[in-house]
Amino acid sequence: MSSPVSARVAAISTSPTLAVTAKAASLRAAGQPVIGFGAGEPDFPTPANIVAAAQLACADPSAHKYSATPGLGPLRDAIAAKAKADSGLAASPEQVVVANGGKQALYEVFATLLDPGDEVILAAPFWVSYPEQIAVAGGVPVVVSTDEASGFRASVEQLEEARTERTKALLFVSPCNPTGAVYDPEDVAMIGAWAASHGLWVITDEIYQHLVYGDATFASLPVVAPEAAERCVVVNGVAKTYAMTGWRVGWVIAPQDVAAGMTRLQSHLTSNVCNVAQAAALEALTGPQDAVAEMVEAFDRRRRIAVDMLRALSGVTCSEPEGAFYTFPGFHEVLGTEVRGRPVATTLDLADLLLDEAQVALVPGEAFGAPGHARISYALGEAELTEGIERIGSVLS
Ligand code: GLU
Repeated sequence: MSSPVSARVAAISTSPTLAVTAKAASLRAAGQPVIGFGAGEPDFPTPANIVAAAQLACADPSAHKYSATPGLGPLRDAIAAKAKADSGLAASPEQVVVANGGKQALYEVFATLLDPGDEVILAAPFWVSYPEQIAVAGGVPVVVSTDEASGFRASVEQLEEARTERTKALLFVSPCNPTGAVYDPEDVAMIGAWAASHGLWVITDEIYQHLVYGDATFASLPVVAPEAAERCVVVNGVAKTYAMTGWRVGWVIAPQDVAAGMTRLQSHLTSNVCNVAQAAALEALTGPQDAVAEMVEAFDRRRRIAVDMLRALSGVTCSEPEGAFYTFPGFHEVLGTEVRGRPVATTLDLADLLLDEAQVALVPGEAFGAPGHARISYALGEAELTEGIERIGSVLS
């Protein structure tokens, strides 16, 4: 019997980041001492004031009912105010649509903007779900490759080479998952100016906005390139900044017609986002921010530990990530060799080997359009982080 699954869904793969995370969790549940570098989520609990706000909302009968599809009024107000305060972005609450996590927000943007065959330019290494979401929405992902030498940043020249008459949008991500690359504000401005000069839409994923380290500076594309603002959709959420991955609250700030289109779509998909989670997100944005600073400090410390340890491993390269909570080391010298009697031709082989021999789970670069590398999340405790990298070292030495 032929598969009942549509061609559209048959063409996409399971999210490799979630698959690695689930595999590590099930091995741990089976008693194996697996260290999971796969999960792109903070190990911290959600700050107590946010949890308390959710508990209050649970007891409020108005939270038990359907609410407005694009989000609770006070939350949309808070999102607009926070974008102004943190990024300098002037937007009205009517431009805000709250969705079930940044992931759903992104999918709804692609579905709202793209007609069949519309091309979206994005830089590799890219987050695993972007090309799949673009394809499911009927678009065509057009990938521009970047490497360690360029700090994993795409230039305007590269983007221009990828542009065709079918290009509808640029997907711009800084800080970047999986590389941690952060574009300088001047480069963000140049990229925005280029997009505007060709009438392209820009979808900019700012989910790691607050996780920036050292001298790096976050810049919001529609702020530093105001000429791009009328065709720009900003995606953000509470997951990474406030250790709220499981609460599933993300949003877009979009021109009003796009926000209205997304709202129509969402009205048929999920209606409103869970009201309790929205109340928690409201507290996250408007309550004390001290926990954010503490988490950023911890990530920065772990970042430096991870980079130093990875650079000390033979055959491993590691550029310095300036944002998010990932390192993206290169294993090019290891490929083509035999390790512990097993041929390692690809970073997929390497990931399998490290899981078997070191009980360390990482996400191979193939998942991000960058074979030869692997992603190591440093959003885990320092003792585990150190031991995990030591285990990798002992297998590779
Ligand atoms: N964005 C995170 C990651 O890259 C969460 C998992 C996912 O949804 O892919 O690991």
